[in-house]
Amino acid sequence: MVWDFAEALKKHGDDGFKVVTVAQYADRMSKCSSCEHFTERNSCGLCGCNMPVKARWRTSICADNPPRWVNTNGKGKEGTDTTPSDGV
Ligand code: SF4
Repeated sequence: MVWDFAEALKKHGDDGFKVVTVAQYADRMSKCSSCEHFTERNSCGLCGCNMPVKARWRTSICADNPPRWVNTNGKGKEGTDTTPSDGV
């Protein structure tokens, strides 16, 4: 699980540390907070990551299969939403 966060952080760095829009962040956190894998410690029970942090990053993808929300950096098979970031 530590490696999941480390890998996500590396992708975030490779993306220039860009973050999602306020609306995208709210949508992601809404989905996480209503997910059965979301823990009382604000982490994901599947990947172990702190979701209020990870959900801000454009490159992050939900750990579920299929994912409940996807990356927004325009890369990868789920990266269809390329809405510009306005910085959260
Ligand atoms: S990342 Fe996905 S699986 Fe994990 S808590 Fe959020 S919605 Fe649930």
